[in-house]
Amino acid sequence: MSNSAVYLDHNATTALDLRVLDAMLPFLQHPQGNPTSRHSFGRHARQAVENARAQVADTVGAHPTQVVFTSGGTEADNLAIQGVAAAQAPTSIAVSTIEHPAVYRPAQYLMGRGWKIARIQVDENGRIALDSLNEVLQQKTALVSVMAANNETGVLQDIPAIAEICRRHGALLHTDAVQALGKIALDFNALGANAMSLSAHKIHGPQGAGALVLDKRVDIRPLLYGGGQEKGLRSGTENIAAIVGFGLACELAQRELNDRIATIENLRNRLETGLRRLGATIFGGESARLPNTSFFAFPNIEGETLVVAMDKKGFAIASGSACSSDSTEPSHVLLAMGVDPEFARGAVRVSLGADNTAQQIDGFLLALENELLRLKRMAALAV
Ligand code: PLP
Repeated sequence: MSNSAVYLDHNATTALDLRVLDAMLPFLQHPQGNPTSRHSFGRHARQAVENARAQVADTVGAHPTQVVFTSGGTEADNLAIQGVAAAQAPTSIAVSTIEHPAVYRPAQYLMGRGWKIARIQVDENGRIALDSLNEVLQQKTALVSVMAANNETGVLQDIPAIAEICRRHGALLHTDAVQALGKIALDFNALGANAMSLSAHKIHGPQGAGALVLDKRVDIRPLLYGGGQEKGLRSGTENIAAIVGFGLACELAQRELNDRIATIENLRNRLETGLRRLGATIFGGESARLPNTSFFAFPNIEGETLVVAMDKKGFAIASGSACSSDSTEPSHVLLAMGVDPEFARGAVRVSLGADNTAQQIDGFLLALENELLRLKRMAALAV
């Protein structure tokens, strides 16, 4: 679909980079071997997968043997949580109150299977409260899961400090770095986590590819049993084209990271200066955040209403989390930060990409200002 609207929803998904598409096409157009086959076709496919594994590993400072390819971030999160749980007798798993459903739903599922689930609180700025983590870890905990960057607010967590606390208590740490990848520098070893989830489609790679990066000491069982691919952790014939695309998307994100950050940060500053002028509250605005994300609300204005109105004006933004946008419940992330539920209903998210321009931001701010005026006029007529 060709679309002249302005895309401001890069935390939901991103357009495939044409260089990535070019790298993928031969693997879709020509007969491909199965990477497990011994003939030349099979060897070629295997080499493509291993090349991509090295690209992903290099981008996050890991060793290629630590990268397990999955169908995306959701599967990586599920593999980390269910896979670690399956390898031991039930004790407790601790997840933060701001996790993506791909983390908290598998944790909820385990609750019915003998596991206790503890919730780690965040403060009003969306940062993990380390005293809450310490308190939760007083009980024997197999695994802690805290995301590196939140998909709604963009708030970054101090993963090295969290990892240190987990280590002291003998708990493994998983971090969902799906939103952090390609937006900030990521180093698996420096973070100190034992497992880290990644996804291709948030970094201009294809949908349907991702990885779990694993510290080799982690005892983990697969979700899927079959041909034993990915060292037995993810059976099923590899999605070679998507994996190749993921590998190149990682390499490009790493090579262009500083330029992308500089461009996006400038745009976000321009956006937020305008938003504050219009009276917006920016959630997590006091915290270190992803450079591309702005999550904000105006008093007495429904987020859903604003999203629909801005869509009509040619701007694609999100209300609440992209993956649960069919729900009208206020964002669980904002509720966890102590935001008033009524105010939280007003939240909308702009997530920028390096392909956005200053002109688009100015156009968005003007359209938003007009819409706010229109909504206020309508509200005044209604009383
Ligand atoms: N984790 C976070 C923080 C996300 O934002 C998303 C997607 O929005 C996911 C996990 C799921 O990733 P995928 O869409 O690749 O399954």
